[in-house]
Amino acid sequence: MIVATLKPIDEILEKASSYRRILVLGCGTCATISDWGGMKAVRQISEMLRMARSDRMQTHDLKEFVVQRQCEPAFLDPLLNEIRSIDAILSLACGVGVQILSERFPDITVLPAADTHFIGTISNSNVYREYCRGCGDCDILQTGGVCLVARCPKASLNGPCGGEDEFGMCEVDPKERCVWIQIAERLTVSRREGFLDKIVTPKDWSRSRSGRTMRIPDDGITDESES
Ligand code: SF4
Ligand code: SF4
Repeated sequence: MIVATLKPIDEILEKASSYRRILVLGCGTCATISDWGGMKAVRQISEMLRMARSDRMQTHDLKEFVVQRQCEPAFLDPLLNEIRSIDAILSLACGVGVQILSERFPDITVLPAADTHFIGTISNSNVYREYCRGCGDCDILQTGGVCLVARCPKASLNGPCGGEDEFGMCEVDPKERCVWIQIAERLTVSRREGFLDKIVTPKDWSRSRSGRTMRIPDDGITDESES
């Protein structure tokens, strides 16, 4: 999932204060799983907008809606009715959702309500952790399904740096166990210890997010949304 968090409510209210007719728009996938992008969150934010405005003796004209995914243009068709007579969309989605809305409805201001952080997951203790950095050359079979690019601060591809403490915690990030210990455990339990002897060759970084917009397929054709 894309991990994002809601901006501070004061910032959201400030951004929305210049607009009267607002569509508060949730996103039914990652943002809903994260508990801040579904209908419940849409209603809570709408209520806060109403209260903020009523303090100033003015009212917001608010609509509330949730689409399955703001990041896919095909899911935005149901909005064609909703966006009639609105000044702005307050988007409860990641940065991709905000950009796709802006492309699809260029005459309407899209206000981002969230800060987008990384690709990751949520643990039992409600902590979000980065698990993938989208390097474009995935070889985590070699490492027992553990990503070194995203989870080792030194991206140490061919073994531990040796800096872990006596409890096996990472020297750079003492809140996390050294990923190489986790890799060794994973490969041992699955009887693939032999992988630890293999030299991991350098990644093909031309397929990574190294300073350009990633496209798939990358055939050099620019589609109309990019022109
Ligand atoms: S190796 Fe690359 S693609 Fe695979 S999980 Fe790690 S960052 Fe993501
Ligand atoms: S202690 Fe382990 S996880 Fe931390 S930087 Fe070194 S190899 Fe990577």
